[in-house]
Amino acid sequence: GRGERDLSVLAERAFERLGDHDTLFFEGAWHSSGSIHERSTRVAGGLRRIGVGVGDRVVVLMMNTPEVFVTYRAVWRAGAVVTPVLFLQTPPELRHILTDSGARAVVVTPELLPLLQSASEGLDLRVLVVGEEAEPTPGTLPYAELETAEPLPLEPRADDDLAALLYTGGTTGRAKGVMLSHHGLWESGAGLDAVARTMDSTRSLLPLPLSHAYGLNVVIAGLHAERRTVAVLQRWFDARGWLELVQEHRLESSPVVPSMLTMLLAEPLEDHDLSSLRSFGSGGAPLPPALREEVEKRLGVVILEGYGCTESSAVVTASTMDANRPGSVGRPVPHAEVAVLDPSGRALPAGEDGEICVRGPGVMLGYWNEPELTARTVVDGWLHTGDIGHLDDDGFLYVVDRLKDLIIRGGFNVFPRDVEDALLTHPEVTSAACVGRPDPVSGEEVVAVVAVQPGSTVTGEELVAYARERLAAYKYPREVVVVEAVPLTSVGKTDRKAVRALVGDR
Ligand code: ATP
Repeated sequence: GRGERDLSVLAERAFERLGDHDTLFFEGAWHSSGSIHERSTRVAGGLRRIGVGVGDRVVVLMMNTPEVFVTYRAVWRAGAVVTPVLFLQTPPELRHILTDSGARAVVVTPELLPLLQSASEGLDLRVLVVGEEAEPTPGTLPYAELETAEPLPLEPRADDDLAALLYTGGTTGRAKGVMLSHHGLWESGAGLDAVARTMDSTRSLLPLPLSHAYGLNVVIAGLHAERRTVAVLQRWFDARGWLELVQEHRLESSPVVPSMLTMLLAEPLEDHDLSSLRSFGSGGAPLPPALREEVEKRLGVVILEGYGCTESSAVVTASTMDANRPGSVGRPVPHAEVAVLDPSGRALPAGEDGEICVRGPGVMLGYWNEPELTARTVVDGWLHTGDIGHLDDDGFLYVVDRLKDLIIRGGFNVFPRDVEDALLTHPEVTSAACVGRPDPVSGEEVVAVVAVQPGSTVTGEELVAYARERLAAYKYPREVVVVEAVPLTSVGKTDRKAVRALVGDR
């Protein structure tokens, strides 16, 4: 029904339930739940005043700041569609998102204005600038002016109205818009909150970009909380700052992506008092077993791994404090159904690898303006994730790899993750990425790049030999290249395109 799962209603109820308290700490200042809520109701009124109507797309081009929270809530209250964009875009990429989405307005921080301006020439957009500018930029409006509007009363949307349009796939082609509903985001937030409740933590550190599906999921989970919580927000993850914030605020948990953990391990952890830490949520990319063990040991935490993608409104499965099997990404959260299907669409029994498929309200409404791609991706209500994995007898999911990353060497399937996990057990290897390189004989050859500990003298040849002792003959890497750093995408995943370029021309 109308309003039952509307995100602006959820936000309003959260405020009514928990009242006014300091809830967000950012760069030296506290922000209360009351001020965030009040500001969002006014910004909603301000958005209306400048002509943002129901269903209009509002691009949010910001690094993490408290105003991201305010803006998301304001856009939903105005019945409009949040279109968050990671700031690390080239002007043509950003222009594609602005034109493809038909955005009506953009909320932007001053440091990103030059990027926006070079991307938006000739487009009809309302540009709202957050924060202080030395001099107002012609053609833009200060965000603060929106906040002078009268609060907009609640006008709940229907459950399956569009709440967010998230662009994904930019690294593998033209980015496409993923349409997520109020209902789906509401449920995935509830699912993640249920996991968080098992952690029993009220003080967390938030280093994820809020523009990503995972970050958005965390924001909405916060609106489901039954207790008052405190979150310390990082503008952008940096390991040193992360450690200092944990120590200073006695933080207990943090949602992370695995590459953040790799970066943390490179810091002198012993120099900080991290005794308050208890648990991490990890998702967005595979968590190598060797990394998991080292983090759990050195930081004294429990890691709860989860799994999801943009097209599923983020979380699909998650581990909890009472159901946590290392190597598994946990069991489906309440709103999601998971099946492992063979290529003909038949469900496979426990233990057999196939494509991981997801059903439920979290599944996207579709790709924006891409009905054919949508029809190929969501079949009979089942979202085909493109990931390979299996369930065990107790319903725990194991992600093996991504279909598109699979290497076929001389007719044998090689999962890059197996190779990476093996290389990562070497004590001097800190990160690893494995790809297939076109090869006239075997079709594809297995090659890897690794980063090693500072001062390590281990060579690529030694690592080939090391891997050869641990992996079947058809899958050990024939070449390992030691690099300064394994290329990562802007959200901290292995950038396989860049890795292929690194090893391709040898
Ligand atoms: P692009 O479309 O640009 O390649 P992407 O597919 O990585 O981006 P996301 O939707 O952010 O975009 O990522 C979802 C994917 O991340 C999943 O489909 C899966 O491959 C991977 N993933 C997420 N969590 C896990 C996990 N716990 N273990 C293994 N893989 C994971």
